[in-house]
Amino acid sequence: MISLGLESTAHSFSIGIITEKGKVLANVTDMYKPPQGWGIEPMKAAQHHKKVAKEVLKKALKEARLQLKDIDIVSFSQGPGLAPCLHVGLNLAKELALKYNKPLMGVYHLIAHIEIGKLFTKTKDPIVTFTSGANTQILGFTEGRYRCFGETMDIGIGNALDKFGRETGMEFPAGPRIENLAKGGSYLELPYVVKGMDLSFSGIITDALQKFKKGEKLEDLCFSLQETLFAMLTEVTERALAHTGKSEVLLTGGVAANSRLQDMLRIMCRERKAKFAAVPREFAGDCGANIAWTGILACKSGRKPLNPAKADILPRQRTDEVEVAWL
Ligand code: ATP
Repeated sequence: MISLGLESTAHSFSIGIITEKGKVLANVTDMYKPPQGWGIEPMKAAQHHKKVAKEVLKKALKEARLQLKDIDIVSFSQGPGLAPCLHVGLNLAKELALKYNKPLMGVYHLIAHIEIGKLFTKTKDPIVTFTSGANTQILGFTEGRYRCFGETMDIGIGNALDKFGRETGMEFPAGPRIENLAKGGSYLELPYVVKGMDLSFSGIITDALQKFKKGEKLEDLCFSLQETLFAMLTEVTERALAHTGKSEVLLTGGVAANSRLQDMLRIMCRERKAKFAAVPREFAGDCGANIAWTGILACKSGRKPLNPAKADILPRQRTDEVEVAWL
């Protein structure tokens, strides 16, 4: 079985093609970058996706050395995400499913971040530290669903980093640049906000920006932000491990590419004698391969394909509302 997956939830339009055995045949992404100083405007990102969609499809098929007739299922990111962007993926997926008479699988894209991580790290039943732009959740699978043990009470950790970057003159996405600058920084105290199992990031960013305006060095603020935000995540992940008795941690989502976050979680896991694994960098952020793979899992679990005439987006669904039939 070969699955073609379309991802269009936010900044990126991406198409991946993957086999039933988990071999990635193609993973082509075109990212919308807002002008410096601006956040992502959903309509502008959707216009970008529409413009590049057919070219990305062409490149993905070329990379995979396949034609559309060779594809067995068409998978697409159904949500959560920005509605205008999600519609671009939905419309192309419907068009392909109808024209080539292929089954259409809707994929919940946050679970796609988890499943691609499990595929490549061979983790079986991990606590998932899910750190993307728009979301931050500590999850674990039990009784048919990924349950949420803790999460952000305001913005996602990636969006928090991007907001700090935007206000201090960095390009989107700011995470990689913050990671680089942090290498030359030293520690300044910032608020540390963990409430029970939940986290809050926005006040910390406000505090860091106030310190920036007062003349503190950018490198020191980047270092301190990483130390503070990642320590908060590590604390909650450790508590979830202890509560559940699970023995693995999987770090996934775009921020999982960060080496300092990986190091902190790795050290915590070593001390608890748990296995630590991070999703490979190229599949950490939103991408079509994640969607294509989760489409295969859903299909093999017996989930019925969607009717292309009725299929719609699900922009606001939560991770713990989604039934996971393949585990
Ligand atoms: P979601 O997947 O929840 O809808 P999203 O689409 O914004 O959110 P991803 O594509 O998974 O998220 O991740 C993008 C985020 O990852 C951006 O906020 C970006 O700054 C961050 N990021 C990427 N690389 C790094 C890095 N090396 N260090 C820290 N953050 C990073």
